[in-house]
Amino acid sequence: MIRVLVWNEYKHEQESEKIAAVYPEGIHGAIAEFLGKEEDITVRTATLYDENCGITKELLDETDVLIWWSHIAQHLVPDEIAYMIRDAVLEGMGIIFLHSAHHSKPFRYLMGTSCNLTWRESDDSEVLWVIDPAHPITRGIDRYFTLPAEETYGEPFVIPNPDKVLLIANYSSGEVFRSGVLYERGNGKVFYFQPGHESYPTFRVPEVQTIIKNAVRFVAPTYRQVITCPKVRKITDDGPYLN
Ligand code: ZN
Repeated sequence: MIRVLVWNEYKHEQESEKIAAVYPEGIHGAIAEFLGKEEDITVRTATLYDENCGITKELLDETDVLIWWSHIAQHLVPDEIAYMIRDAVLEGMGIIFLHSAHHSKPFRYLMGTSCNLTWRESDDSEVLWVIDPAHPITRGIDRYFTLPAEETYGEPFVIPNPDKVLLIANYSSGEVFRSGVLYERGNGKVFYFQPGHESYPTFRVPEVQTIIKNAVRFVAPTYRQVITCPKVRKITDDGPYLN
């Protein structure tokens, strides 16, 4: 079983009736609902409002894949929690950052860049083009799929060159954006996926759910271990490590 933790900031849904109408169960609840139907996935949820922001070392140790949605309260996640998440990824925990989590502390600490982009809320439609149809994360998606309305995210997206670009979006306004990008960081895999603005029911779109489910399985750890910096013996001596 792949143990998933869906973390959501959960402010918009509680502070705006309009957003609560789109996601009465919270964005975390909507994601947990479709992931929970998968036989090989178990789901827990946490939010900013939980004790310790819903993140502890023990919880991360029991998590194979962390899914992170955040927006207006990025600064309320303490640095020590963001670094704890980064370190769990370096050990091997998989992580999926959704939409405005491009500006979350854990994503920025893993990327090492500003992760800035251009944006606009103007109900543009969005076409997501599959760049790598052979990749496990795009399995089951046709050449492209369309979202009737999304927040427009545009280039330049200030990220390191991705290991793989899986999806590129173009919007009805003309902007383009690298909407699905993949990285390895230490032993861990990182997937950033752009759709998911809080005022649209994007997480109910079948293709979006398929990509998130595929991504959970792809970034799940195959090896999880802290890699330290030990002083070692010559390979001709007995035993590899000097204690
Ligand atoms: Zn947004």
